[in-house]
Amino acid sequence: MAAVYFHIPFCKRLCGYCDFYRSVKLRYMPQVVDMMHGELAEQQSFLHDTTIRTIYFGGGTPSLLAPCEIERFIEQVRSQFDCSQLEEITVEVNPDDITAEYVAELRKTSVNRISIGVQSLDDRCLEFMGRRHNARQAVDAVKMLQEAGYDNISVDVIFGIPNFGVTELMTTLEGVLAMNVQHISAYHLTIEENTRFGRMMARGEFTEIDECSSESHYMWVHRALTNAGYEHYEVSNYAREGFRSKHNSSYWKGVEYLGIGPGAHSFNGAMRRWCEQSVEEYVGGVEYGSEVLSEKDKLNEYIMTSLRCAEGLSLAKVERDFGVKERERLEREASTNDISRLLKNDNGYLRIEPEMMLVSDLVISELMAL
Ligand code: SF4
Repeated sequence: MAAVYFHIPFCKRLCGYCDFYRSVKLRYMPQVVDMMHGELAEQQSFLHDTTIRTIYFGGGTPSLLAPCEIERFIEQVRSQFDCSQLEEITVEVNPDDITAEYVAELRKTSVNRISIGVQSLDDRCLEFMGRRHNARQAVDAVKMLQEAGYDNISVDVIFGIPNFGVTELMTTLEGVLAMNVQHISAYHLTIEENTRFGRMMARGEFTEIDECSSESHYMWVHRALTNAGYEHYEVSNYAREGFRSKHNSSYWKGVEYLGIGPGAHSFNGAMRRWCEQSVEEYVGGVEYGSEVLSEKDKLNEYIMTSLRCAEGLSLAKVERDFGVKERERLEREASTNDISRLLKNDNGYLRIEPEMMLVSDLVISELMAL
């Protein structure tokens, strides 16, 4: 089964840390939406598997779209693909877009999962990050969604924020746990050069938190959420039983997906494709970059995605798909190399212990095929 992703690349204002593909040129939104409908109509054949299991609206800020516009995209997917097994339709929302009217309209659509960008429940921290909402708005937005009947809600949280310590993090974690949502994504803040934070750091206005504090923040998050009964199933993702993100899990399992909109990526088993045009360029005609994946690329992709997930890397799958030599190489490197203390070989699966997931990138880079 396959997935469809819509990238709504607009934001009312830019957050200090944001490195996503987004634009504040909201005047282009109607044209971009029209172009996206056209792109979806034209790109149907990119997918080999045309049975859609999940649809995801990400951004940017998809909640800048009226709910009826979101439903129009869903209807188009239904008309072009086999949606008899469609299980999950997620929309990312920002707390300050959530009003009683918006939620009432959204409930009339077929959206059945909400991902809300809470990020922090400390007002100073939200202000520092340049978010448009405050803690009260975030709490009220989640409550409004729950009262309207949404029972599959994911909350995004950011930790490892410079100048903010465990006290603010605990305020956030306690508040988020009190929301009693089904899924929590917790991301360590990374500071990229081309962001406002990157420029502030270059001017010496603040420094990134040190490694020791990073680990401590990560462990606070991991312990608080797992003690509250959430399963830590991917580096940054925690879920109540039965509420893992089906859409994001399909990325990690190598499922085909079609990405629509400026900034969206697609994958059909053999090829990766992306549209990295600005919104101005996109409305003039869609253009893609692409690469055909070699066997080595596919293996490295599998190493990267599987080791970020709780299930880990199946050595039997590596042998079946990439040959016995690759299996032997991975087993050898996992047991002899410096990273061996971070990995477990458990019944034919290489796994990184959840407590060590923060350094998963280090382990993965050591195991990549060269
Ligand atoms: S709302 Fe999200 S996508 Fe938009 S600038 Fe902030 S972090 Fe980036």
